[in-house]
Amino acid sequence: MQERFPAPEFDSPSGSVFPPPVGRRVYCNRNLRLDQVKAVGFDMDYTLAIYRQAEMDRLSIEATVAKLVEQGYPEELLSMKYRTDFPIRGLLIDRKLGNVLKMDRYRYVKTAYHGFRKLTRDERRHAYHTRRLRPGTGRYHWVDTLYSLSEVAVYAAVVEHLETHGRSVDYGRLFSDIRRCADLSHQDGSILDVVLEDLPRYVERDPELGVLFHKLRSAGKRLFLITNSGPQYTDAMMSYLLDDALEEYPSWRNYLDYVCAASKKPGFFTGKAPFVDLLTGSETRDPERGRLYTGGNIADLQRALGFAGDEVLYVGDHIYGDVLRAKKESTWRTAMIIQEMDDELRVLREHAVGLERASTLEQMRDAVQDELREHQARLKRVERKLAEQGSGPERASWEAKRVRHRRSIDRLRAQLKEVDAERSALDEALSQAFHPFWGSLFKAGNEVSSFGNQVEQYGCIYTSRATNLAQYSPMHYFQSPRHRMPHEIGSTPGV
Ligand SMILES: [Mg+2]
Repeated sequence: MQERFPAPEFDSPSGSVFPPPVGRRVYCNRNLRLDQVKAVGFDMDYTLAIYRQAEMDRLSIEATVAKLVEQGYPEELLSMKYRTDFPIRGLLIDRKLGNVLKMDRYRYVKTAYHGFRKLTRDERRHAYHTRRLRPGTGRYHWVDTLYSLSEVAVYAAVVEHLETHGRSVDYGRLFSDIRRCADLSHQDGSILDVVLEDLPRYVERDPELGVLFHKLRSAGKRLFLITNSGPQYTDAMMSYLLDDALEEYPSWRNYLDYVCAASKKPGFFTGKAPFVDLLTGSETRDPERGRLYTGGNIADLQRALGFAGDEVLYVGDHIYGDVLRAKKESTWRTAMIIQEMDDELRVLREHAVGLERASTLEQMRDAVQDELREHQARLKRVERKLAEQGSGPERASWEAKRVRHRRSIDRLRAQLKEVDAERSALDEALSQAFHPFWGSLFKAGNEVSSFGNQVEQYGCIYTSRATNLAQYSPMHYFQSPRHRMPHEIGSTPGV
């Protein structure tokens, strides 16, 4: 099993090199001054606790399918083929047609699968390109957590299996059943109990987590945890991640000022639920430092912290439940953890030459097309002249021009064909390198994907894991490279 977290390369975090290696960097959409951040909050699952995705998916898929069979689905599903590497975040389930879609930022469907069969361009156009797609409606389900990838894997596998065996499928009902069975598997312990029994198998312990927390605390920042996991699970997981990480902190509780388990996010950001003291069971609007609570809400926590909203940084992995709601309901600053970035950055690095060539080909195509259009327009003018001229004295010269333009057009068309052939082969190879089914997580063709768009909109900063923050000074000023609008680029002197 490959370790995602190699041992730190430096002895002391304060002696770390700057800038950090690409894979350890924090990327910035909206400027953020860490020196002005007084409190840092964290989500737990997939933010501090990095699950081994394939292992977790296998566990969730098998638990979900077993429940589907219990509820009347054919027993043969227990031995059907599924692919843990099929789904990525940012996909859309079409409950009506049984397809799984990937869109760009304009909700244009760029890739679609039915089961494991890729839809042709015509099929996509027919199903999705004639009217505006509305992801918020009952027909579509947006997949934006790593936790729910297994539901997509089950959906595609069941559609594929049943239809290959000649059965018809009620796509909407199937998806609801899968969601219900997946939720049941989480509630009844089919998944979580197994994880708790063998944490190292399912969760990677980031050895720098204690160092990160200590560094932030030493800079005077308050730390807190808001997780939807139940208190027992949270205690077991946090103990595994942090107990004995640093001598000064014998228990994970020593690092954190406030802890809210079973917080019901996104309700935590939108509602007014009281904090319930785990020891006494009493409800309060004034959470105290060092105590363990369930429930809670953002307004009371912020009052207890005593800081303005924009002095709080919240670190989470879930677009909707963590960063989007925090951003819409408060002025909290947000950091998004995207563990898939390790793979994305690796492909960008390994295929730098191919990516550069793809962009050159794109420019070549534009240039050839421009020239082609120019010759086509001129040829039209020449042909008009020839028709008007009849057998006039200048006819020979117009004829020569016509031949010249035609030759140029033939030459350019051949060039265009060559460029297109190279480009589509290269695009396919690059897309495969990112992901065998969907290509890059952040891009859809040449556009930003709908997932990438949400990261841009709601995450002030984003990075592959929480401890990358420890690569920077607690006073660091993260600056976005996107401070110019398209019309400024190229018109500003020196740019
Ligand atoms: Mg999470």
